[in-house]
Amino acid sequence: MKILIAGAGIGGLISALSLERAGFTDIVVAERTEEIRGLGVGVNLLPHAVRELTELGVADRIAALGVEPRTLSYYNRQGQLIWSEPRGRAAGYEWPQLSVHRGRLQLELRDLVEERLGDVIRLGRKLVDVRSGTAVFELPNGSREEISADVIVAADGIHSAARKLHYPEEGAPEWSGLTLWRGTAVVDPYLDGETMIMAGDAEQKFVAYPLSGPTEDGRQRVNFIAERRGEGSPTADWNRSVDRAPIAEMFEGWSYDWLDIPAIIRDSEELLEYPMVDRDAIPQWVFGNLALLGDAAHAMYPNGSNGGSQATLDARTLAYHLATEPTVEAALAAYETARRPACTRLLELTRQTGPEQVMQLARERAPEGFDDVHDVIPREELESIATEYKLAAGFHPEQLNARSSLGARVGEAT
Ligand SMILES: Cc1cc2nc3c(=O)[nH]c(=O)nc-3n(C[C@H](O)[C@H](O)[C@H](O)COP(=O)(O)OP(=O)(O)OC[C@H]3O[C@@H](n4cnc5c(N)ncnc54)[C@H](O)[C@@H]3O)c2cc1C
Repeated sequence: MKILIAGAGIGGLISALSLERAGFTDIVVAERTEEIRGLGVGVNLLPHAVRELTELGVADRIAALGVEPRTLSYYNRQGQLIWSEPRGRAAGYEWPQLSVHRGRLQLELRDLVEERLGDVIRLGRKLVDVRSGTAVFELPNGSREEISADVIVAADGIHSAARKLHYPEEGAPEWSGLTLWRGTAVVDPYLDGETMIMAGDAEQKFVAYPLSGPTEDGRQRVNFIAERRGEGSPTADWNRSVDRAPIAEMFEGWSYDWLDIPAIIRDSEELLEYPMVDRDAIPQWVFGNLALLGDAAHAMYPNGSNGGSQATLDARTLAYHLATEPTVEAALAAYETARRPACTRLLELTRQTGPEQVMQLARERAPEGFDDVHDVIPREELESIATEYKLAAGFHPEQLNARSSLGARVGEAT
């Protein structure tokens, strides 16, 4: 069976690794850019994705690129703690959460694909059309190349050309009105050096998490996202660089004895502006032998840290069904049934700000801060918000630890 993957981002490369592990040998990955440059800043891979990477035998290589956050803590604008929960293995998962630089992750996945599958990545191929089982690519010199395959996986990101073929009226991704400024900075470790924090509320927020352990001078690389409503541009370009000073000024007064937010923004190497955008859920991901995957199928807000993790689950689920179902048609139908309703639900939850709604509740109920958070939000309410999101995202510890493996090989009975 020949399988063509359009897009060598996180979802496309993990699809190639998953398909190879499932026993497929004829795989081509076609990527629009002429060079994989490893762009972006930090991403989180949640335990449900790290389980898949572990079963693929690549988790150690990826873990070596980043760090394992052990706690996630939410604060109000005043820097007062609202809710804190253990993450990864500290929360009872059999697999850790990993925070890594997206660019380093993409380059490592590319290396793994080349080691395991050989020279299968074809660069400078921009998908422009899919006709009767054949994908059409535009090359940098303007010429076209057609590649026929039994299965075409469209992992071509939030601006997916394949999706546009089937949803031509959809237009640009929808802007929530919030803008994100993303960067990394080398700083003195905050709290215990292993904690992801979020401070603020639905109008203005700051997120930070370590991307490395302490270096020789005791400092640590931290990824951060500063976020505010009503500023910036709605155009979704992952690489737009902006001035740091005005963004640091927006956070004047957000200096706590445990973290100096304006200083981190000022100390960052580069600040990338990105609008908080997503796309509506769609009623169909599979069209003949074409299957949408990752952001092409379900671009969602980054709150909840699920973009890369859901793409990983898509990839493994697709490979599992292709290996175990009798026909391509049955396999793609099973893939869509397994993944689309779950992602639709998750998309809705991220629009309701997912687990971060505890910060907005604190803002609404106690805008000037509180003496005891439980006077403002009862413990049971805090717990149920955190649990509901984990169940919907498929990463509640008990649910994930008990789920059967998505590892299967062609021809093996399951
Ligand atoms: C440059 C860049 C930087 C990013 N930075 C971050 C970040 O810092 N933090 C974060 O959480 N998420 C980031 N993301 C998004 C994140 O990678 C995805 O949300 C998630 O990993 C899902 O992966 P995906 O493979 O579906 O999409 P992506 O990782 O976006 O990959 C899509 C791939 O398809 C390629 N492509 C696009 N159009 C075509 C076409 N017509 N034909 C062929 N190939 C095509 C793209 O060049 C890209 O390699 C970034 C994405 C990109 C492209």
